[in-house]
Amino acid sequence: TDYAAAGVRGLAPYKPGKPVAELQREYGVADAIKLASNENPLGASPRAREAAAATLDEAGIYPDGGGFALRGRIADHHGVAAEQVTLGNGSSDPLAFAVEVFVTPGDEVVYSAHAFALYPLLTQAAGARGVEVPTTAGYGHDLEAMAAAITDRTRVVFVANPNNPTGTRVGASALRNFLERVPGHTLAVVDEAYFEYARDLDSDYPDASAWLAEFPNLLVTRTFSKLHGLAGLRVGYGLSSPAVADLLNRVRPPFNVNAPAQAAALAAMDDAEHLAASLEANREGMAQLEAGLRERGLDWIPSVGNFLTFDTGGDAGEVHEALLRQGVILRPMGEYGLPRHLRATIGRTADNERLLTALDRALAETG
Ligand code: PMP
Repeated sequence: TDYAAAGVRGLAPYKPGKPVAELQREYGVADAIKLASNENPLGASPRAREAAAATLDEAGIYPDGGGFALRGRIADHHGVAAEQVTLGNGSSDPLAFAVEVFVTPGDEVVYSAHAFALYPLLTQAAGARGVEVPTTAGYGHDLEAMAAAITDRTRVVFVANPNNPTGTRVGASALRNFLERVPGHTLAVVDEAYFEYARDLDSDYPDASAWLAEFPNLLVTRTFSKLHGLAGLRVGYGLSSPAVADLLNRVRPPFNVNAPAQAAALAAMDDAEHLAASLEANREGMAQLEAGLRERGLDWIPSVGNFLTFDTGGDAGEVHEALLRQGVILRPMGEYGLPRHLRATIGRTADNERLLTALDRALAETG
């Protein structure tokens, strides 16, 4: 396979959180819980499930390849034209399309340290040079330094707002100032996978999609995987100028969003009750986990997402293992350059309680 592209040959595969079934097999625990992939603990809304199921009668025919109804609904939601929407198999799709369209071998891509793992992965696969910019003291994106890192060769700059795994966010004026500094030969990607949670938890959190008319080189990505509880169906989207969307749609595989996913996404957008309940559960779970960590004398990075990254005070790998043995799956942050930290997705009350109890034992064992 040495004829594979050099960037791909050197690539370390993306490691998702361990599936519950795998943990049960490996450790013999019957009732494992997974708080490792930032999913909505309430799952999909009943209306979204029904809508998805109803499409199965027509499972023998292709879905609407252009996603007419969903694109239109998303466009209305954001006050943009349907031509500005690129549908994705998760928001991972528009992120990948952006690199495919704009980045060629030898180009540069700028992103922050401790940022979402897909950015370096896509960059390396494209044979480009990743420019990783150190964070501010609180693990937040340093937008000043990121703007300064853009050169003539920079084709894409990624801003995760809020960022996964740190849960930090940049505020409205800082983000606007940054976008004004991004030159016309660079696509500014603002990844808003956790948008709704951040909006709920922080009044100065900006909606970058409101600025699309001003920045023709802006791509904002959103997903149905988080608050909408549809991670398993894979649906997300990009919002941009029509010109950028046209390019992204040229590399988009036909039928990349399946029929159940399109139907479920439409229904999920309309289920205000489920969305509100999910936000409330997150607010309460976040407070519960923060209180539990405080009681145990542990530090965490303040988060506006549906997850919390905390400092175990030692080797997080060992604490992670000790939690796995008790059937609690978190995500170790060593690969993100945070070897003392673990990331926990906010779960239901009972899940969070179980995590905290398991943490006591894990910390005692690893001492
Ligand atoms: N962006 C960020 C910051 C994420 O954390 C994730 C999911 N972990 C994604 C994008 C991609 O998620 P999806 O493809 O499910 O939309």
